[in-house]
Amino acid sequence: MTANGGGQRTVSTSESDGARTESTTGDAPLGSPDIVDPVIEARDLDVYYGDDQALHGINLEIPEEQVTALIGPSGCGKSTFLRSINRMNDLIDIARVEGDLFFREKNVYDEDVDPVALRRKIGMVFQKPNPFPKSIYDNVAYGLRVQGQDENLDEKVHTALERAALLEEVEDQLDSSGLDLSGGQQQRLCIARAIAPDPEVILMDEPASALDPVATSKIEDLVEELAEEYTVIIVTHNMQQAARISDKTAVFLTGGHLVEFDDTDKIFENPESDRVEDYITGKFG
Ligand code: ADP
Repeated sequence: MTANGGGQRTVSTSESDGARTESTTGDAPLGSPDIVDPVIEARDLDVYYGDDQALHGINLEIPEEQVTALIGPSGCGKSTFLRSINRMNDLIDIARVEGDLFFREKNVYDEDVDPVALRRKIGMVFQKPNPFPKSIYDNVAYGLRVQGQDENLDEKVHTALERAALLEEVEDQLDSSGLDLSGGQQQRLCIARAIAPDPEVILMDEPASALDPVATSKIEDLVEELAEEYTVIIVTHNMQQAARISDKTAVFLTGGHLVEFDDTDKIFENPESDRVEDYITGKFG
């Protein structure tokens, strides 16, 4: 697969009047660094809720084993894009997807794709920690048992808890309810649950926004560690957080357009688009 949507990097910019403009729909966003062997690739992806179009012609390639942040003002389609990657939008009756979304070069919307199997390879962590009302152990073992991966279960549960930076805090209480943990611990438990079946990609939808600063900082450290083994895509409304923990940043703006995608340093220090600069410097959003 060629990089950047099969060579569609036709971004029209005009600086003749000092005000840059950009055309986004159907084109690659501004920036668009070359990504070798992207894990996820969206091509001309549109998402609708009923008659309302929430995403317009998204072209984006996500690199392997890096943290990619999705930022932009509320309602610009970040969560919608995230949910389109592992077909969580299927669970919303009025949601409709057009265009292509490839995971390792396979279109996840092909008829022969089983969304449940897909979600084991592309796990998800939500804004509000949502452990099951079960023991810590059973929370982490859940996905493994469902898949019949229950040989060496203890070892797998321990490994997932360790990778989620939670093992030390809970190893003496694995039979206690996951609901008795603090909010930050619950979120790390949900991360352990997501990584236990050994996914390739972890989607995170504002995973720290319901947490206090100390718990947030632990989640941020963890996200950076996870990217050594997994591809992480994280929605955040916190621009400092995106700047701190991500390698690449995609900026969505109002109306559901992906305007710019680049190395995070470039986005925050010298974005191509005036609108992105206005957004990250706090002029709107
Ligand atoms: P963000 O994550 O950037 O805040 P969302 O993806 O949540 O944006 O929302 C994008 C647009 O889609 C908004 O206009 C929102 O109202 C609409 N939307 C999101 N979820 C639903 C839904 N379940 N049903 C109908 N409209 C939705």
